Amino acid sequence: MYDYCIIGAGSAGVHTAYFLQRFGAKVAVVEKGAVAAGGSGAAGAFVSPRLGRGGPIQRWSNEAFQFCVKFYEKTPFFYQTGLLRLPKEGEDFDSFEPFIDVKYERKDGGFYFPQAGIVKAKEHLESLLEGIDTFYFEAKPIRKDGYWEVGRLRAKEIVLATGSDDELLRVPYLSIGKTSGVRFDVRSDLALSYNIHKKVSVSANIDGIVAIGATHHRLGSKNPASNPLSLFEEAKRMVGEFRYEIEQMYCGVRSSVNDHLPVIGSLYDLKSMPRDWRKIDGSSLPKSGRYIIGGLGGRGFVFGPFAAMLLARYLLYDEPLPEELNVVRFIKRYIKRGGR
Ligand SMILES: Cc1cc2nc3c(=O)[nH]c(=O)nc-3n(C[C@H](O)[C@H](O)[C@H](O)COP(=O)(O)OP(=O)(O)OC[C@H]3O[C@@H](n4cnc5c(N)ncnc54)[C@H](O)[C@@H]3O)c2cc1C
Repeated sequence: MYDYCIIGAGSAGVHTAYFLQRFGAKVAVVEKGAVAAGGSGAAGAFVSPRLGRGGPIQRWSNEAFQFCVKFYEKTPFFYQTGLLRLPKEGEDFDSFEPFIDVKYERKDGGFYFPQAGIVKAKEHLESLLEGIDTFYFEAKPIRKDGYWEVGRLRAKEIVLATGSDDELLRVPYLSIGKTSGVRFDVRSDLALSYNIHKKVSVSANIDGIVAIGATHHRLGSKNPASNPLSLFEEAKRMVGEFRYEIEQMYCGVRSSVNDHLPVIGSLYDLKSMPRDWRKIDGSSLPKSGRYIIGGLGGRGFVFGPFAAMLLARYLLYDEPLPEELNVVRFIKRYIKRGGR
């Protein structure tokens, strides 16, 4: 009997398993494909702070950024190259400056963040899973009396970390948005010493390889997806001409929720909730035994370790989750709108 069965071995699931096990829980991970088979494997895994004007998305992104660069100090798969963020068309770039809350300097026409970098996603996640029981099959968890049955495994509680795959997530109050994207790894003579981000991201040259990527096309939207090769035109507009040979193209889908913050915490049955949303206090509700960590958006490797650490501390040490990240915010909004 495991304490927790984590379903999904992407950034969300693996970081959650890592923290839970490190804090002393008995953990199993179940993955239907391979480690980083979902959005996490497609990600360029750029780790960068967010520009903004001080709202919650910027605040949480940059708190997560500060946390994860410390966390990544321990992995050989993080390259702290720094990142130059250039102004996008029509952006009032200067107005961001008073709100920048991480280390930066102005250079080369943009803001330069020396702590930023890039992670070799798959290698990093695989290394975290060493020593954690990992199984490969499609999980269809069944609630039994006092435990969950996941294939032949048994666990007291389960954590859904299934990314944009919302098959197991049948709750009316949460809807997962899906945005597809591509990344190319190219062998190139382009020798940037730091990552550059504008409309697309272009990485520093690491062992002869440059990553170029973007996630833009919202699945279900009427606009056709742009030609993936247009990434190269965009990249050349940013950094000038360069020669390249495509080593590998990755396609993936990332998940997000409508307020663009991660979503973590207990999944509740609406029947157990008061009719008046004002009476719902996320910090005092008992845990449900079925949890989610998702909605990491375009920052799966920034939010992943941070959200996982918060979830593990909530599960094992009863530390309340921040309201702005707690899944309970969606229950309140749903009931407030008259849904039940
Ligand atoms: C092209 C692209 C570029 C990106 N670039 C960046 C970037 O530069 N920086 C950054 O931080 N983020 C980036 N992202 C975002 C990041 O990849 C995602 O936010 C992150 O990977 C989401 O992680 P996840 O674990 O929630 O989901 P996923 O990585 O999708 O993992 C979910 C896993 O669950 C498994 N699964 C689903 N259902 C089941 C089931 N029933 N049983 C067993 N297993 C199941 C899937 O196979 C999958 O492996 C990018 C995304 C894309 C697509």
